[in-house]
Amino acid sequence: LIPTTPLFTNLSMSPPIPALTSRNVAVIGAGAAGLVAARELRQEGHKVVVFERDNQVGGTWVYDLRVEPDPLGLDPFRPIIHSSLYRSLRTNLPREIMGFKDFPFIAKNDKERDPRRFPGHREVLLYLQEFAEEFRIEEMVRFETEVVKVWFLEEIKKWKVKSQKKRGGKDDGFDFDEETFDAVVVCNGHFTEPRVADIPGISAWPGKQFHSHNYRVPEPFQDQVVILIGSSSSAADLSREIAGFAKAVHVASRSVPDDTCELQHGYDNMWLHSMIESAREDGSVVFRNGRTIVANIILHCTGFKYHFPFLQTNGIVTVDDNRVGPLYKDVFPPIFSPSLSFVGIPWKVVPFPMFEFQSKWIAGVLLGRILLPSQEKMMEDVEAFYLSLEASNIPKRYTHNMGDTQFEYNCWLAAQCGCPGFEEWRKKMYQAVSERRHNSPETYRDKWDDHHLILEAYQDFTPYIS
Ligand code: FAD
Repeated sequence: LIPTTPLFTNLSMSPPIPALTSRNVAVIGAGAAGLVAARELRQEGHKVVVFERDNQVGGTWVYDLRVEPDPLGLDPFRPIIHSSLYRSLRTNLPREIMGFKDFPFIAKNDKERDPRRFPGHREVLLYLQEFAEEFRIEEMVRFETEVVKVWFLEEIKKWKVKSQKKRGGKDDGFDFDEETFDAVVVCNGHFTEPRVADIPGISAWPGKQFHSHNYRVPEPFQDQVVILIGSSSSAADLSREIAGFAKAVHVASRSVPDDTCELQHGYDNMWLHSMIESAREDGSVVFRNGRTIVANIILHCTGFKYHFPFLQTNGIVTVDDNRVGPLYKDVFPPIFSPSLSFVGIPWKVVPFPMFEFQSKWIAGVLLGRILLPSQEKMMEDVEAFYLSLEASNIPKRYTHNMGDTQFEYNCWLAAQCGCPGFEEWRKKMYQAVSERRHNSPETYRDKWDDHHLILEAYQDFTPYIS
């Protein structure tokens, strides 16, 4: 997608959806979002094809030991490794919150499984595989089939989807296919395309740079002086893991005052600094706090960009400074609604249940059971939302950062669908864990005091666990 100003003029592109009509729908991606979208769409009677470029379901949760050849991920033609997981990753949300609402993510009584409340990544993959099996999702999935182009056919008001499938055997070529669908649901994930910090002088700096997308294990950092940029929950985990191997770790954060330079509690080799000011040819890096450090490695834990390389909408749907827009309620681009939709755009959320609500909404709208406002009204809503962000001085790149507004958002979606909303225990548990993660990043996964909320969660799970 080319970041240009969206065209809000032609408001007549959407196909009219007659009442209660089942649709022929393409879902792009078989991660958590694509799996639940496929389930909800089929449940409403739609005919669904899920395109998945990997050979299995799970998306992000399929750990891949390989990394990309371009460690910063700047080369647009590099071979893509989808997942950004590292070997030691444990979830940053407790399993009670994480699971789909009607398929709880409960610990299994099996010695092969990870029973922890914040399990390792393999446990999440196994959970998603079980979800796919329970709801027979795989029969809708075309594996090793990558969507390479999606465009709208104005004359017939349908979408064309071009895909490529690897040929079997020794032949490493592709077979291409073009098909027509009434609707496309985009579920391609947004933790694959690295966002890199802009550092004055970096092109002359002689050290190595990586993005966290290409971090798997700490051993290569042995005895190195490492600068890690970022303050997300993965940055907190990785800085601690690397400190166990590196000579020194200097964390650069833009969310601390400019004079910050603090030795981190419990470490003799890890410091927190304000942001980097510049990098120099002699290998040194200067921070805003005035300190200069000679370093070997810069690790960018600076997040990811939305990326829809296959989507061609003539500039109607764009990504501009990490704002995907215009999107009504983060799901429907008004001009193409309801035939084009996105699941999973908001971040800083509890992803799986939100995917479930968004998918129910999309499935009901496509059937004609749930009505959307007019395209003009949806555009007004989007514009008003953008103005509210501006008025609160929220940068464009945080458009889809939800945080605490996710609860209201999920309840709004649930009300559209006529189903129960985000449970109160889930909200309280999310707030409790966010606080613990902030105050005790080392221990929040293994020590907690929200036992009463766990009990409430299991009461809700009773109908779904035999
Ligand atoms: P993905 O899981 O990324 O799936 C997208 C799928 O689309 C992939 O299978 C991909 O192969 C496929 N695809 C992409 N492009 C194409 C194409 N052109 N054609 C065909 N197929 C395509 N969430 C939590 O709930 N708890 C956590 O603790 C947590 N920790 C995280 C830690 C890290 C490091 C990261 C990166 C994310 C974490 N998340 C966590 C968020 C996680 O991304 C979501 O939980 C969720 O897995 C996202 O699902 P998705 O389906 O939107 O995307």
